[in-house]
Amino acid sequence: MPSSADGPAVADGAAGVRIGIGRDIHRLAAGKKLMLGGVCVSEVVGCVAHSDGDCLLHALMDAMLGALALPNIGVLFPDSDARNRGRSSTEMLAHVAEIVDNEGYGIVNVDLVILLETPKLNPFIEKIAASIAKSLAVDRHMVGLKATTAETVGPIGASEAIEAMAVCLLGRRHTAT
Ligand SMILES: [Zn+2]
Repeated sequence: MPSSADGPAVADGAAGVRIGIGRDIHRLAAGKKLMLGGVCVSEVVGCVAHSDGDCLLHALMDAMLGALALPNIGVLFPDSDARNRGRSSTEMLAHVAEIVDNEGYGIVNVDLVILLETPKLNPFIEKIAASIAKSLAVDRHMVGLKATTAETVGPIGASEAIEAMAVCLLGRRHTAT
């Protein structure tokens, strides 16, 4: 990413907005906590992961970083770094939100999809969306969140995996000159 003292590191064209997309998939295993958006939705089955395995926040962070054409969380928080073992994804999200802020952008909105066979997430949707809004310091209505199943098709349908997808729109903050 080019960066110079003459102007912002990230160009945004006339609209002042940038969009990013993120996707994450994790294998599921018994006897682990399943964290989604910083909320524990199951203690029966959870993600196999180096961090806390919060698939939804991983996709969201990649969308935020992608909007700035920055490398993904695998580069930002490498597996090889012992500090990332079991690390809270909510804490990582705060770090990514700081990067967005430092680049001069604010979140316009995010939209998220979780693909998971069980447990059914409807009882958790509001809590997860509110948790993410709080972490991003945005209004609850800036966070779209849907959960769906894979209709028993493929590894997600067989409850072997969970997948999350995210899009994020950033807007350049107006700064007084
Ligand atoms: Zn992940």
